[in-house]
Amino acid sequence: MEKCRDCNSILTKQETACYACGCAVKRKTEGAGLANNMVRVINVLLVVSALLTLASLFFSFTPTFTKCAFATLVLGIVKSSATQMAEREGK
Ligand SMILES: [Zn+2]
Repeated sequence: MEKCRDCNSILTKQETACYACGCAVKRKTEGAGLANNMVRVINVLLVVSALLTLASLFFSFTPTFTKCAFATLVLGIVKSSATQMAEREGK
């Protein structure tokens, strides 16, 4: 459910301007879509990589622990910068 930032009236998804106060509706999903999608993908990769890191301690079918830990670390850095990007674009 979206609300107008100015008057708090409820907006439908098709509305591009608030019917109550006439202010233009700025949607969070627009513009931030790419960065948000990136964050989502990186999140998945990060979880997979973290699980692999954990698994590499116990199993031999995974890449070495060092490789997994390194990948997790890199993904963590990428994720934090992508999150920042998404926040900047969303504003
Ligand atoms: Zn309004």
